[in-house]
Amino acid sequence: MLLDVSRIEASYGASQALFGVDLAVEEGQAVALMGRNGMGKTTTIRAICNLNPPRAGSVRLAGTDLKGKPSHRVAKLGIGLVPEGRRCFPNLAVHENLVAAARPGAWSLERVNDLFPRLAERHAQMARSLSGGEQQMLAIGRALMTNPRLLILDEATEGLAPVIRQDIWAAIRKLKAEGLSILVVDKTLSELLPVADRCVILENGRSAWHGTPAELSADLQDRYLGV
Ligand code: ATP
Repeated sequence: MLLDVSRIEASYGASQALFGVDLAVEEGQAVALMGRNGMGKTTTIRAICNLNPPRAGSVRLAGTDLKGKPSHRVAKLGIGLVPEGRRCFPNLAVHENLVAAARPGAWSLERVNDLFPRLAERHAQMARSLSGGEQQMLAIGRALMTNPRLLILDEATEGLAPVIRQDIWAAIRKLKAEGLSILVVDKTLSELLPVADRCVILENGRSAWHGTPAELSADLQDRYLGV
């Protein structure tokens, strides 16, 4: 098991948001983390990375307990995060954003540029001048430059134009084919499910269902994901 999340609970101040989330990502798998708005997907991701550390339960990465490890250590141990809202350095050039994240390993500027040729074309531009889709490519590239074992994408394609969304999904499929393990949140089920090996659905801060995309019937979608 690459990522093993067991019964985590998390709070914002006095307000509890997670009441027991279980999820697992096996080596080389892509897992879709799903649930309606406000059910706890972002909070779960932030808890895994210790940006908002869980107050109960455990998170293990390749057997290592992440408890008490600051988020930069978590990154070093192998979790690359593409956060909601992307959060690139706006006043650094594209290549500077990438180089700033670099850690020794298989990923290089060249490899990111191969994955996203649009970034190569814009390598000297300030990140703030990129389109939303290009900024998302940059956020993914930056996470890859850390040479992660697990890539986590919170809202992989939210708010992006259809053409760019397809580029992002194509990149995710390619990364998966290369063996990278992935945990991904996205609202567009028709695009998310085809890349996923497994799904975990959250409801009110708890993991409520898990299974394969094929097992996620229309009834289940209605019950857990319908509006
Ligand atoms: P969305 O798809 O809307 O981003 P989500 O599934 O990612 O939803 P979370 O953002 O994790 O859900 O929110 C889970 C719960 O925690 C919600 O009840 C939300 O109101 C609450 N919450 C989220 N962020 C904060 C915060 N900064 N302070 C207080 N409560 C928060």
